Amino acid sequence: MHDRPATGQAAMSTRPVRLSRIAEQMTASTIREILKVTQRPDIISFAGGLPAPELFPLEEVRAATGAVLDRYGPAALQYSTTEGHPPLRAWLGDRAGVPAQNVQIVSGSQQGLDLLGRVLLDPGDLVAVENPTYLGALQALRPYGARFVAVPTDDDGISPDGLDALLAEQPVRLLYAIPTFQNPTGRTLSRERREALLDVAERHDLLIIEDGPYSDLRFRGQAQPSLFELALARAGGDIESVRVISLGTFSKTLVPGLRDAWVLAPGAVIDKLVQAKQGADLHSPTLNQMIIAELVEEVLPRQIARVREAYGQRCAAMLAALAERSPAGVHWTRPEGGMFLWLTLPEGLDAEKLLISAVEAGVAFVPGASFFAAPGEGANTMRLSYVTVPEDRIRAGVGVLADLIDQRR
Ligand code: PMP
Repeated sequence: MHDRPATGQAAMSTRPVRLSRIAEQMTASTIREILKVTQRPDIISFAGGLPAPELFPLEEVRAATGAVLDRYGPAALQYSTTEGHPPLRAWLGDRAGVPAQNVQIVSGSQQGLDLLGRVLLDPGDLVAVENPTYLGALQALRPYGARFVAVPTDDDGISPDGLDALLAEQPVRLLYAIPTFQNPTGRTLSRERREALLDVAERHDLLIIEDGPYSDLRFRGQAQPSLFELALARAGGDIESVRVISLGTFSKTLVPGLRDAWVLAPGAVIDKLVQAKQGADLHSPTLNQMIIAELVEEVLPRQIARVREAYGQRCAAMLAALAERSPAGVHWTRPEGGMFLWLTLPEGLDAEKLLISAVEAGVAFVPGASFFAAPGEGANTMRLSYVTVPEDRIRAGVGVLADLIDQRR
């Protein structure tokens, strides 16, 4: 018996598991790979996409957890409905001016993107995206067979005329857009452009997914209504005829780790999202939703004010450091909120190459090329997050970057 050659075993250990064609097309996110390097404490990292942890409402979450366990008992730890915790849906519906039935709770807006891909896309469908756009949206929608097409954008974000021309040429299934404090550019679409964009969308019967994780984090300038709000007003408050699906999240205002977010959509889409979510994870964690519901009335507004103030100061520190150093031929966005600033290097400078020297010198950022749907674009761009770095380190980090850029010119 023990003499038998272990051929079966040997064969098993060398033969790779056969993966699906979809899995074969997935690639590791460059951002995740970079984040690994930048977790070293000596690195001044503008590369992260994470909110500032020292602002998390730790004590409030602790108290809310106790209160929820006292109030709900075992029900707080039980399976619950796929649609979401009713008081949380009701609160979100009230806030948005839509019935609670049109609110689907999801585990992060990232899951919202995945589920929307499942219920809205057929293989080969064209999805219009800003150029650059949020990498995670490309990752979420690509497995459903999305083909991405870039909407012309300029310094003010999506060009409605460019979108109009694109839609006249090609049968675009939907537009994915982040109109407010966009990731990665920090840009915000003006009121006029929002209205014009909706005009174009109506003319072409275009569906829009509006992703708004940063919209509450305005630290200067004038608040803009979301595309969803404008479309709802145009539809006389009837969400069933609105062609903008809205994604929101508590990740950037409260905490990302509870993975609580929501989708606002017409009933027919919600019905399918419920079925898709049943297949994905049955429901978002009961306890987490109850904790969030406990925090929305009092803690959330306080927390938003706190985060806005801190991010506003950090953004101002980065803008001041950039203005002071003004590396020649470099320009950058001036965000009015959110977490990111977008920097464009002189033509011909490669941000990925620059990153290697920057990390050696103790500073990290995300090269911009990874945010473009088509390969080969944006080689001279980078995303800088200002939210997790103290102000003096922001100045030092920008100084290092400016030196490196100047040396390369
Ligand atoms: N959309 C955008 C534009 C984002 O920047 C992020 C997070 N970085 C997400 C969605 C995902 O957020 P969450 O899943 O935490 O809600």
